Amino acid sequence: MGSRGASERTFPWRLVLLLGCAVAAISWIIAVDVVRLRRAVETTDTKPVFAGAIAALCTAAWLGTMAAQRRSGSRQQASVRTWMVIGWLVAVFFALIATHSRRGYEPGRGELTSAVEVGVVTYLTVIAGLFIVGIVALFWWQHRANRPITHDPDDLVEVWRVEPSAGDRRRKPYFEARCECGWSGQHIYETTPGARSKAFAIAHRHGSHVVPELFQD
Ligand SMILES: [Zn+2]
Repeated sequence: MGSRGASERTFPWRLVLLLGCAVAAISWIIAVDVVRLRRAVETTDTKPVFAGAIAALCTAAWLGTMAAQRRSGSRQQASVRTWMVIGWLVAVFFALIATHSRRGYEPGRGELTSAVEVGVVTYLTVIAGLFIVGIVALFWWQHRANRPITHDPDDLVEVWRVEPSAGDRRRKPYFEARCECGWSGQHIYETTPGARSKAFAIAHRHGSHVVPELFQD
């Protein structure tokens, strides 16, 4: 029974393959760009490199704030945020095209000559690097979350009623069984007929020590 929660989630091979290809392609572009930047810095000054890197870090902070706020605020604010991110992605796409034309990979050509080019390529390189770090961190975290669960027969199983946070309109209150071993059962929305007893039934299927009281979150 203890492995039930773990076996329900299978390893997403296709997603890993797709992201692996994306990471490989981005890494190759980063490698080429780092070489171009080093060549450019030998002849021009380093100020555009710092400016590009700082701009990239500010963008990462801005995107992080967007991600944290995605469930709060009105529908209108959410749509404004979505359009800002789309606008940013379009700008990045055109900046990438402008600084990575095919001639850029031919030996002796595609040198970064202007300060703007150096700044933009630094910006894109740092963003790409952070993207790869983010993907690796996400998978590491996912892998940790999917680790096999070993249920001790003495572990207590509790049933919780979870109230979505204020401002979160997209979710409804639900019941969830949770065990000391780290297992948690599927979410049963409160609006489902017999939701509460279903959640307790799930808890009893997982372990024999089910706390009869309902917990609130
Ligand atoms: Zn357990």
